[in-house]
Amino acid sequence: MTAQENDKAAWLKGPLADCSTIPVARGRSWRLVLLGAPGIGKGTQAELLNQRLRACHLSTGDVFRAALKSEGEPSAAMTDALGYMKRGDLVPDEVVINMVAERERCMQCAGGFLLDGYPRTVDQARALDELLRKKNVALDAVLSFELPMEKVIARLGGRRVCSKCRKTYHITHNPPATEGICDACGGDLFQREDDRPEAIAVRMKAYEESTAPLIEYYEKQNLLLRIPAEGSPEEICEAALKGLGAE
Ligand code: AMP
Repeated sequence: MTAQENDKAAWLKGPLADCSTIPVARGRSWRLVLLGAPGIGKGTQAELLNQRLRACHLSTGDVFRAALKSEGEPSAAMTDALGYMKRGDLVPDEVVINMVAERERCMQCAGGFLLDGYPRTVDQARALDELLRKKNVALDAVLSFELPMEKVIARLGGRRVCSKCRKTYHITHNPPATEGICDACGGDLFQREDDRPEAIAVRMKAYEESTAPLIEYYEKQNLLLRIPAEGSPEEICEAALKGLGAE
């Protein structure tokens, strides 16, 4: 089974762009938020869930990285946001909330969505609730991938990303067939600037302070599904699908 072919233009480029295809949801449209510390394998889970449920993998980090690589001149707000990102800091809530609000079409998409990296703070979660309410849609669940912090830190240093198609690997847990080369498209793998040791420390602190309260927020809404992130990526994904009742 391969992932959908959608180029996700409406998400990656913004409201003026149209997606190459609108994914056809499998069975029903799934609207999910994925939570978990950086490096826990959320990106890999999002890809696997995309293959199974068809919902688009929507990552706010990917929007920033796409803007970084784009040839056009970024807006003043985006230039400011990219400065925070390069330092390993969280981008201010207002900027990210506006960026997602501009992409409201994706929230209503018949294919559903897998939000990865958003919301990251309780204020962002409130803004998402409001946006979804306005669009007359609701989250089906929030998947929280969980692992002890020491193991998360060990995983981060080994992550590699394809420079062409963005597929993620891990040098020991999920290595490509040929070292440094993407299995899917043959692109070169690289280590993200924010996966380097100096940035990791900043990101873990930001995660603990800002994101952990989201667990409580969604638990209160009865949406939280805790998934132990141990085992192979496929086993973890099966556990998530089972929890959703979407096997
Ligand atoms: P990610 O790929 O999700 O780890 O995001 C990479 C970087 O983009 C983060 O370290 C932040 O600088 C920025 N970023 C992405 N999503 C958000 C968000 N929801 N809130 C604040 N900053 C974000």
